[in-house]
Amino acid sequence: MLDKGRGPGGRVSTRRSESGAFDHGAQYFTARSLPFVDAVGGWAQAGVAQRWVGQFGEVDSEGLRMLPHRNLWVGIPGMSRIVAHQLEGLDVRFGAEACGLARARRGWTVQTVSGEEFGPFDHAVVAVPAPQAAELLGTVAPAFAARASCAKFAPCWSVMAAFDGSLGLAFEGLRVRSGSGISWIARDSAKPGRAAEPPERWVLHACPDWSEATIELPPDEVCGLMMRELVGLVERFGGVAATPVHLRAHRWRYARTVAPVGSPCLHEPAMSLSVCGDWCLGSRVEEAWTSGMAAAESVLASAAG
Ligand SMILES: Cc1cc2nc3c(=O)[nH]c(=O)nc-3n(C[C@H](O)[C@H](O)[C@H](O)COP(=O)(O)OP(=O)(O)OC[C@H]3O[C@@H](n4cnc5c(N)ncnc54)[C@H](O)[C@@H]3O)c2cc1C
Repeated sequence: MLDKGRGPGGRVSTRRSESGAFDHGAQYFTARSLPFVDAVGGWAQAGVAQRWVGQFGEVDSEGLRMLPHRNLWVGIPGMSRIVAHQLEGLDVRFGAEACGLARARRGWTVQTVSGEEFGPFDHAVVAVPAPQAAELLGTVAPAFAARASCAKFAPCWSVMAAFDGSLGLAFEGLRVRSGSGISWIARDSAKPGRAAEPPERWVLHACPDWSEATIELPPDEVCGLMMRELVGLVERFGGVAATPVHLRAHRWRYARTVAPVGSPCLHEPAMSLSVCGDWCLGSRVEEAWTSGMAAAESVLASAAG
């Protein structure tokens, strides 16, 4: 398994810093289908996932509403642990960015940007965001590349901020429906299994339109703009001013699917090729998992046949 990332996680990532860790991609996940509920139950038993019980609110032009408790799950001690747990026992190379796929009689080979070649493999599974899948599949499987190109993604700026004191807010997560840039804030340090001692750590996500409009801005500038909006929210909700001791922005160019392709995965038995990812079915962790399972079944069926 090759992954261009520095470690496990993809968009379910945890970024470490001298001020503590931040889940800067997916904040939590929900489990609705029975197979995924079962899988999450297994992760909970293994101690790598736990329910996130807290106060969650939503603010729009009419004001603040606290939301009823929902079944939200997080990885322990960070979101990326969910992925790391599933990789146990597998041969994974991080920092390996695939830039070419080739199929010959002996099987699939994968070329990476650093000039290495891996393979031959009996079966290829492409499990990357749709725009990157379209690029990789362009010459070897143009029909799949065309389908991947139909899936549309929205970007998201994510700001990680640690403060020299508590912001004194009465909620752990707030969905912002009336903001100019911010769409979500969460007290990351209040999630279960995290270091609870100071500094208090918050993750801020920007809404898709604002992220699109600012996607090429330097990260420091984005931090400034989003922090200014956060200060307004803190004042509005009776919080306390605090100074950031750590402030970073991460640009997720392909954050959430806005138009999925509508099949669990793409599979071509004659080519021993499967393609999966959240964008096949939707935009959530559960849909990524469901698509991955469908691809795994297609590989097993090919091997059996
Ligand atoms: C800001 C943000 C907030 C989110 N919030 C939520 C939420 O609250 N709840 C929820 O359920 N979901 C949320 N999501 C969505 C969720 O994270 C995704 O649906 C899910 O992680 C997708 O998993 P995936 O395996 O399909 O893709 P990814 O997680 O993107 O994994 C793809 C992997 O492929 C690797 N890769 C890409 N290109 C190459 C290449 N050329 N060569 C080698 N490796 C490559 C990447 O490094 C990555 O590890 C959020 C996502 C973001 C970004």
